[in-house]
Amino acid sequence: MAKRLVTGGTGMVGTAINADLKIGRNDCNLTDWNEVNAFFEKHKPEEVIHTAAKVGGVWSNMHYKGDFFRENVLMNTFVIEAARLHGVKRFLAFLSTCVFPDKVEYPLNPEKIHLGPPHHSNDAYAYAKRMVDVQLRAYREQYGLEYVSVIPTNIYGPHDLFDLENGHVVPTLIHRCFLARERGEDLQVWGTGKPLREFIFSEDVAKLSEWALENYTGIEPLIFSTSEEVSIKTLVEMIVELLNFKGNLVWLSDKPDGQFRKPSDNSKIRAFLPEFEFTPLYEGLKKTIGWFEANYPNVRK
Ligand code: GDP
Repeated sequence: MAKRLVTGGTGMVGTAINADLKIGRNDCNLTDWNEVNAFFEKHKPEEVIHTAAKVGGVWSNMHYKGDFFRENVLMNTFVIEAARLHGVKRFLAFLSTCVFPDKVEYPLNPEKIHLGPPHHSNDAYAYAKRMVDVQLRAYREQYGLEYVSVIPTNIYGPHDLFDLENGHVVPTLIHRCFLARERGEDLQVWGTGKPLREFIFSEDVAKLSEWALENYTGIEPLIFSTSEEVSIKTLVEMIVELLNFKGNLVWLSDKPDGQFRKPSDNSKIRAFLPEFEFTPLYEGLKKTIGWFEANYPNVRK
């Protein structure tokens, strides 16, 4: 078995991937070339799944653009370069659906990544992620390295960041609904409940990543998606049921709905793995909420 390294090894996806070596933010500062280079020199990984990134909700994306751009560009550039320099055979990096242009024809597919500017709110992060695609294409042309990237849709699962204000919708609402139940309060939800999203369970993303690392060598990023759109309203109803919340729902219409929908094309992964069964949203939420309640208050938040 090849020696496999996972960066972002303490994160939601990183914890679910099988590897010989997992590193988190305290093990190696990936924005420091000397540390990254020394780490690869010492441990000599043969395969790398690079999940590490500076991530955040819409508020921090808007207010710390310089940090988001610099840290992500440095991490990605250094990790990919260290992999090349130290002879890593197989390499997989994570992009995100926010790399797509703001104004784009649906469904999202990998040929459309660079066709226009990303949404202004997270453009620094999105451009930094687009550069992963640019770097991997350049390395493929000059050095013949068949390093690949993947684009998952909205991921959720255990070990997520359960931030009450600034997280993504699933972890935020699980935490908020849990507290509302404990305190006998109303549950506040943003927007209208009408937007649609494609949610994917972290353990599915981990399995697909392991498969792609071993089997996919294409130049195009591979989309990981169920291609099943679910409304925020339906999502909220599932969370409420699973947490056995009996109070009132309050929809905050002054909070953003964000994009109405962003359907993606999953035909490529479907063609590769026709038998793959995605975890149904209800099952994935059940596992995530079970994990949250078992670990509260020792969750990242
Ligand atoms: P993104 O819009 O796909 O980048 O992901 P988010 O997870 O931030 O939000 C998805 C949707 O959930 C949006 O339509 C939000 O309006 C809705 N939403 C409802 N309540 C919340 C909340 O408390 N936090 C967040 N982040 N989104 C919420």
